[in-house]
Formats: sequence, structure tokens, C-alpha cells
Amino acid sequence: MLTLKNISKDYHPGSKNVVHALKNINISFRQNEFVSILGPSGCGKTTLLNLIGGLDHYTNGDLTIKGKSTKNFKDKDWDAYRNKSVGFVFQNYNLISHLNVLNNVEMALSLSGVSTKERKKRAEKALISVGLKDQLYKKPGQLSGGQMQRVAIARALVNDPEILLADEPTGALDSTTSIQIMKLIQEISQDRLVIMVTHNADIAHEYSDRIIELLDGEIIKDSRPETKPYLGSTVELKKTTMSYIAALSSSFKNLVTKKTRTFITMVAGSIGIIGIALVLAISNGMNDTVNTVQSDTLSGFPITINERVSASINDNDGPPEFIAPGEASEQAFTDEPVLYANDPVASQAIHTNIFTDDFLDYLDAMDSTLYNSISYTSNLELNVITENIEGDVQRVEVTNSNTNPFSDSSVLYELPDNETFILSQYDVLIGSYPQNENEAILVINDENELDIQTLEALGFGSNSIYSFDEIIGKTYEVIPNNSYYYEEDGRYKETIDLETLFNKDGNITIEIVGILRVQEDASSNLLSTGLAYTKALTDVMSDDALISDVVTAQIDSTDINVLTGLPFTETISYEDVMSLIGGDSSPTSIQIYPVTFETKNEIKTYIDDYNLTVPNESIIIYTDVAESISDTLGVLIDSITYILTAFAAISLVVSSIMIGIITYVSVIERTKEIGIMRSLGARKKDISRIFNAETLLIGLSAGLFGVGIYYLLQIPLNLVISNLIDIENFAFLDILSAGLLIALSSILTLLSGLIPSRIASKKDPVEALRTE
Ligand code: ADP
Ligand code: MG
Repeated sequence: MLTLKNISKDYHPGSKNVVHALKNINISFRQNEFVSILGPSGCGKTTLLNLIGGLDHYTNGDLTIKGKSTKNFKDKDWDAYRNKSVGFVFQNYNLISHLNVLNNVEMALSLSGVSTKERKKRAEKALISVGLKDQLYKKPGQLSGGQMQRVAIARALVNDPEILLADEPTGALDSTTSIQIMKLIQEISQDRLVIMVTHNADIAHEYSDRIIELLDGEIIKDSRPETKPYLGSTVELKKTTMSYIAALSSSFKNLVTKKTRTFITMVAGSIGIIGIALVLAISNGMNDTVNTVQSDTLSGFPITINERVSASINDNDGPPEFIAPGEASEQAFTDEPVLYANDPVASQAIHTNIFTDDFLDYLDAMDSTLYNSISYTSNLELNVITENIEGDVQRVEVTNSNTNPFSDSSVLYELPDNETFILSQYDVLIGSYPQNENEAILVINDENELDIQTLEALGFGSNSIYSFDEIIGKTYEVIPNNSYYYEEDGRYKETIDLETLFNKDGNITIEIVGILRVQEDASSNLLSTGLAYTKALTDVMSDDALISDVVTAQIDSTDINVLTGLPFTETISYEDVMSLIGGDSSPTSIQIYPVTFETKNEIKTYIDDYNLTVPNESIIIYTDVAESISDTLGVLIDSITYILTAFAAISLVVSSIMIGIITYVSVIERTKEIGIMRSLGARKKDISRIFNAETLLIGLSAGLFGVGIYYLLQIPLNLVISNLIDIENFAFLDILSAGLLIALSSILTLLSGLIPSRIASKKDPVEALRTE
């Protein structure tokens, strides 16, 4: 049945020397006999047995199995042969110590893909047949030597192999036990080929049918040589398959036996995951907070379109484009080795937003659900006087050059027409918010300050401290054009005598009705400090100015300046004069207050769409203060997240390397087990599968553990944060991210275990079996 033809086996232990372990061996075995191979230690018995069992491969010659030459056998053929046709019994039992007796026997079956139920049934039957009915659930360590050898025999027989190979099966047993085991093997040899290696001649002669004596790698005697050629059926080599489930369950059992180490590995692996989970959760919290700030607060900030915007014009190629200050142009940091001549006049420009009727109509036509209000600041210069602290009447200079409501301080300006929004950022400290043209409010800074110049300009003199009572109730006279200008010789002159002006009828009196201060948690200082009056006043004064004598006169006289009686010049144009005397009601600044953060973007798109339809010089450039605030925040948060992620990633890498090392140690530790499994017919693939399953399990549990620990940490973390910044449930991790983290942990540890598991699968089974 088995024929060895001119088999020799050489070992190359060193680089030069060669050990001829077997020399030109020729033997044939019958289908059914008990052969003992006898010989002194070192004569090549084990080598011969390993060759016959396909654990090791011959150097020269041929081994035919049931008439089939093994010359062209591939790894998988040998694996299948070992698993299906051969059962091994070793001197030192070679049981897997962390598996119980039943599982040890089942191992051989799980490699051949037998179902769990069938496996258990067959393993039990095999164990009962060797007399171990009551020891099924004991670990090998709890058994006697004889019992362990019975388990090994049961394992060898469970697949019902045609060949049983036994290497000194009684070598480690006392004589009584030896006899029992020999009887068992003899019984087994009734219906299969048993080849036993021994150096005990007595045993060999007593139990076996045939004795082959070996000396120095050569056969010196064969008591009953087989001469007939084999005529039976050929060998069938069905490939062995270990299912992933079987691999997982084997790894799981191994992990369970090494509880402490598994736990430590899992904790180590989870540290990176905990880190990443924390980083994710905190950045989630930060992003959420920013979004809330954006939609709650920043969305209230208007899109501002000022008449004059400084912007550089990119004119090097393509259509000119306006670049807001601070923004890098596309042209910046070019790699081209060329130098451009720059015309500062052409490229650095003050862009004038021209509020044409078309544009104003276009704004009017905008979907009114997008904005809370649109406020227009006009060019109107008010003539205001007040009685100061010394009782003198003084002019309140309103420098209208600064129409930007975001600048630091101005004496007198129009309050943006959006009470709700302003009150979301400012508190009325005393009094009330101005409601009509006769009311105004004083805006002070966060330290209750107003600068000296402004105080003096407003007629408060130069004290260093004022009580609110001194402020509230202070009045100002706004002089209409008809009172302010008088006609003389066809020219309109300003009244110089302020006392007279102060007492004229028709003045509009405005009173400070309250004091406004920016809120502690306001997103930005929207208003400049100073005295702010209502849009109602602007409207009244503008209407009044339009029908005033001086304006009417100027409208009638397009060539001559009615204030000087001289023709218009380059420096003083008709428009300048009209603007000065209130004849020009067109806006100088437009504020659009969006409803939400999203509608703000729609508004911007709406304006951008307008810009597409007009020539470059007529485009409208707007500023969005909120965006620059939240942009800065966004960049800050991104950088923090990147840094934290880098730290977490490093810890993840470190823990992956650690798992790789631990897996490698485990490979070394389980070398013997690898050898046993290979002897039972496990493929290289199965071995790596078992180790991969193990790392996968560790990664999975590390992921689950890490995410679990994170969720525990989240509770105190959020408590601390809510104490610090008053935001409930700041850090959070959604289920999807948690799942992804667990997957990441599993994949990373699996990857880190790939190399060790490859090393494991490449181990030579004979060497592996030899290790202790
Ligand atoms: P036995 O089982 O009869 O005691 P072995 O078959 O184990 O003998 O060994 C036969 C010879 O081959 C011995 O000289 C031994 O040193 C040598 N040998 C066995 N395995 C190896 C190996 N892996 N490398 C080098 N020499 C080996
Ligand atoms: Mg030996």
C-alpha cells in the first residue's frame, strides 16, 4: 500500500556539513499489518516515520501511496494526505494543553470541515473506544501519561485513517501502562496499517507482525518483506478546509485560557481607540458649538455693502476680480520665474459700489423670507447743536465720513434698523431703547467708557466720571435746512449764531433715553461707541431736506454752487453739494439682516448672481463679518483637531505595534501547537487563519472595550465641560463613528498580526513539533 523507493534524506544543519539521516531505503507496506521499526537512538526512525506521514519531505527517491507517486505532491496534497489518511501518535503525546480532551480530539475533525454536532459525536465515540468516557472535559494536564496517550490515539483515529504512525508511543510510560497502550494499538492494527517506531525490541517482538531494523539510516533487517505490487484502489485526496468559524472558536478558546494576557493586550490596544474617540467627541462638540454660535448669533450679523470698499484688482489675466483685503489672490506665490510691472493706481483701487436703481430694485425683489430686514444708511448730514455743561450752545460735529457701523467710535450715527438683533448683542443698562425720531441712545464700551473727544463733542464737558442720571435726558437740537441756511444775494449761507439756531421753531429735539452696552458673551462689537439715533430721524430730516429752499434752489441751478455762488469745480461737484445739503437720499451703506445662517448664504448667492449680469466696475462687493469670525474659529478648531488626532494616531500605531509583538510572542509560544496542527493536516493557510482570527478578536474586543471606556469617560468629561463653559453634553460620539472605530481597531490589529501569522504558517512542522 505504501512503497518507499530508494528514499534518502539529508539534513543540512550547518552551512557545510550534511547529515545523511536515511540512505537508499526500500520498503513496501501491506494494507493491514503491524510493523515495528526498531533501531538505536539516532538511526533515523523518526525521520522515516515523518517522511511516511508527509510531515517531512524526502531528498531523493519516491514514496508511492496506493500506487500514486508523491513526487509531484503539492503542500495541499500532503496536508490532505495527513488529515485524511494518516493518524500520528507521538512519544510526548503532543496534546494542545489549553484545549480539553474532547476539543483536542475534535481539532482533527475541525480541520476536515466536519459539522460541530458530528464532530462532537465522533470525538466522543473515539474517546470511549480508548476508554476515556469519563475524562472528556479534563485538560491534558489533569491526566496521567497513559490517559494522555489514549487521547492522542483517539485523536489519531477519529478521522478513521488507513495508516496509524506511532513514534515511541510507550517511550514515556511505565511498563504496565505500556502494555495497555500496546494492546490498544494492536487492536487498532486489526483493520489498518500501523507503523510503530521503537527502540524496545521486547515490545516490538511481542506485539507486531513485522519488524524492520534500522541502523545509521539503512535497513539491516526486514522480518516479512512485502513483494507483491499494490493492486488496490488509488488514494483519494480531498482537500482539507478549516472554516473561519472553527478558526475563530479555536482562537477564542486560546484567548480565554490566557485571560490576563488577553486582557492586558486588549487594554493596550484600546488606548489608541479611546484617544481617537475622545478627540472625535471633543471636535464634534466644538463643531456643534460653532454651528450653534453661527446659527444663533452670527447669523444675526448683517451682510454689509458699503459705498466704498478697498479692494485690489487682479488684472494679470482673465477678467479682473476684486480681492478683499487680507485675502491672497490667485496670482500670489506663483512659481513662474517672471516679474510683473504693477500699476498701483490700476490694481490697488477703492471700489465704489454703485447703488443703481437697478440694484436697489433687484434687492427689493429678493425673497423677503430670507432676511429680517434691510437697512439703508443714507448720506444725510444732520446739523445738530446742544447746550453744553457750561451753558454754552455748541455744534455737535457729525463726521459722516465714517458710515461703517463696525468702526470703533463715532460721535453721532444712525442706529442700524434692527432692534431685535442689536438687543441680542447689547443690553440697555438704563432707560429704554429709542423708538422714534425724538429718541437716541448712548453706546458705551464693555468697560463703561466713552472717549473724551466724543464726550466733549456731545456737550458733556471733560469730567472723568459721570453718573447715568447726568446722561439720561440730555437733549440735542436738530436744525432743519430752512432754519440753518438763509438766503442772501442769491447765495445760501449757514447761520453762524448758534444761540439763535438753538431757539428757533421747527427744530427737532432728540433726547438720550438710554445707555447701551455690549453683552459679555456677544460675538462681536457691532456698534461703535457714541450717540446713536433712529432711522426715523434720518427719514424725517431727509424728507424735510428734499423740500427745503436750499435743495430746491440747487436743483434748479445745475451749474452754480448755491452755497458759494461759484461754478462747480473738479473738487466740489454738484453731487457733493447735494449730498452736503441733504438733497441726495441715495444710500451709502446697506445692511441685510439674514434670518438664518443658511439664508445668509442664499442672500450672498443672490448678490453674486447680480454681479454676473453687470460689468466689472458695477459689481457689488459685500462684507460678511460673521463669516470672518466663524472662519477664524473654524481654522482654530481644525488645527486643534489635527493636533489631537495626531497624538491619538500615534498611540494607535504604538498599540498596533504592541499587538504585533504580542502576537509574535504568541506565535513563538504556540510553535508546538502549530506543529501539532500541521501533523493533523492543517494547511499553512489554516495556521495563519487561526492567528489572524486571534488578532481580529483582540482588535474587536479592544475596539469594543475602548468605545465602552470612552462612553464611561464621556460622563465626567461632559460634567467638567458643562461646569467650565456651560454647555450640556458637549462631547458626543455617534453610533456610526463608534462602529467605525471598532472596525478600525479590528483592522489595524489584524494588520499588525499579519506578519507574525505568516511567520507561524511558514514554520516547518517537524521543527515545530520538536520545540518544547
Ligand atoms: P531517531 O528517531 O532514530 O532517534 P532521528 O530520525 O530523529 O533518529 O534522527 C536521525 C539523524 O538525523 C540523527 O543523526 C539526527 O541528529 C539527524 N537529524 C534529525 N533531524 C535533523 C534536523 N532537523 N537537522 C539536522 N539533523 C537532523
Ligand atoms: Mg526518534
